[in-house]
Amino acid sequence: MSCIIYADRLKEEQREAIELKLPPDFLQTYPEDEITFKEEILIQGETYLASDHLVIHGSVHTSVLLPCSICNQPVKKTIHINSFYHTEELANIKSHIFDYSEEIRSAILLSIPQFAECNEGRCEERKQMEKFFKKSNITPSHFPFSSLKEK
Ligand SMILES: [Zn+2]
Repeated sequence: MSCIIYADRLKEEQREAIELKLPPDFLQTYPEDEITFKEEILIQGETYLASDHLVIHGSVHTSVLLPCSICNQPVKKTIHINSFYHTEELANIKSHIFDYSEEIRSAILLSIPQFAECNEGRCEERKQMEKFFKKSNITPSHFPFSSLKEK
């Protein structure tokens, strides 16, 4: 199973369903990256020819593990791309074989949330931080120069 379309097998006005499950290592990440993929990638959609273009559209679903922005523990975030859309000029498709792996890869990488917080947004360490902030937060009950203003 891979992201390959044989454009010469498609006929005008004919839609071919896409249903793919790709292993998580499809999204190669580097060991030093804090972002990892452990779930398979599900691609559902269709492909068809529209005049001199090949059209691919559908949805992409997977999940990503990101470090919690507070405590650094890995947090699972689902990725749902509901409108993946790509068109390719048929003239650019060599030997009628089009591989859209890179398009899927970049669509997923662009959908990774910038921030993640564990425990559904209630990181345990955040509570501790908030307590700390409350204790250290000095709310001035009396503004030192307020008496000057009144005069
Ligand atoms: Zn956390």
